[in-house]
Amino acid sequence: MPPKPCALCHTERAIIKRPKTGQQICKDCFFRVFETEVHNTIVDSKLFKPGDRVAIGASGGKDSTVLAYVMKTLNDRYDYGLELFLLSIDEGITGYRDDSLETVKRNQVQYGLPLKILSYDELYGWTMDAVVAQVGRKNNCTFCGVFRRQALDRGAAALGVDHIVTGHNADDIAETVLMNIMRGDIARLGRCTLICTQSEDTIKRSKPFKYAYEKEIVMYAYFKKLDYFSTECIYAPDAYRGHARAFLKSLEAARPSAIIDIIHSGEAFEVAEQVQQGMKAQQTCKRCGYISSNDLCKACTLLEGLERGLGSLAVKDSKKLESDSTTAPDASMRTIPFFQRTPGAAAAVEEPTPA
Ligand code: SF4
Ligand code: ZN
Ligand code: ZN
Repeated sequence: MPPKPCALCHTERAIIKRPKTGQQICKDCFFRVFETEVHNTIVDSKLFKPGDRVAIGASGGKDSTVLAYVMKTLNDRYDYGLELFLLSIDEGITGYRDDSLETVKRNQVQYGLPLKILSYDELYGWTMDAVVAQVGRKNNCTFCGVFRRQALDRGAAALGVDHIVTGHNADDIAETVLMNIMRGDIARLGRCTLICTQSEDTIKRSKPFKYAYEKEIVMYAYFKKLDYFSTECIYAPDAYRGHARAFLKSLEAARPSAIIDIIHSGEAFEVAEQVQQGMKAQQTCKRCGYISSNDLCKACTLLEGLERGLGSLAVKDSKKLESDSTTAPDASMRTIPFFQRTPGAAAAVEEPTPA
């Protein structure tokens, strides 16, 4: 049988079947449609304006590595006028994050982007290795997720950036929609499909890969021969997300548009007024100044639990721990430095050095 021509350019040989559409296309057309779709998402959602300083949350994994590469490519091609940075969080996971950060350091050189690394150890005085040694491997991701969210904002504030972009892809968002439905978490369901989130006093966050399929991101990284790290975290026990992921993959196998359809369904949900009224107003943490819906932010509550040797209780019964805490900590307890945003501040970053 003669080779099939590309369905888009009709000249080159088709070597890729696009997971999103099933179209058979050539490599160059795949790069072009993938990049153009991300560009269209950025433009349609008006994510940036010229002069914005944007930090790319970089873990060394496939999603954020492709994001860094595509953001740099589109910024140059379409003249977005963005100042781009790589921002990495070092959770302190031996045998995982230390290796993946080596990949980010190589990306810094390969893409010529300044890099800032902020560690849990310097911010909270705890590595994830130490957290797991205390709380075990059941609730570790709760600590890690809360600590990461705040660490990214603090890293971004130190860089003086206006905006953080993350590599969350369409599969991640569809999975989150399913998980929020399964948990009945309607407030989160209302927010999880937003491409861009920002509340007062927080740095804007967005997901330019909101409509990009995971399989296409892997393909893009593979055909572009990008340098990324592909090992799972050694402490990854999020079994519930695993079920949602397996369910989504089986839906995708039967009908590839299932991923986008679930995102569109999530977007169409409207959060009822009673649910909105039930959401707590945002204030700032009395101890560390970070945005919070209670007197103490989640990170301060969890950190206090760790410091008192009650890390597991801090997850299971944070209300009890909060009511036992005063906003002033014991003198012996480690706390998080006070959070201050300094838009446009000079960035303390490592400039890329030639390899
Ligand atoms: Fe952190 Fe859990 Fe992710 Fe590992 S799997 S990096 S512990 S959130
Ligand atoms: Zn082609
Ligand atoms: Zn706090």
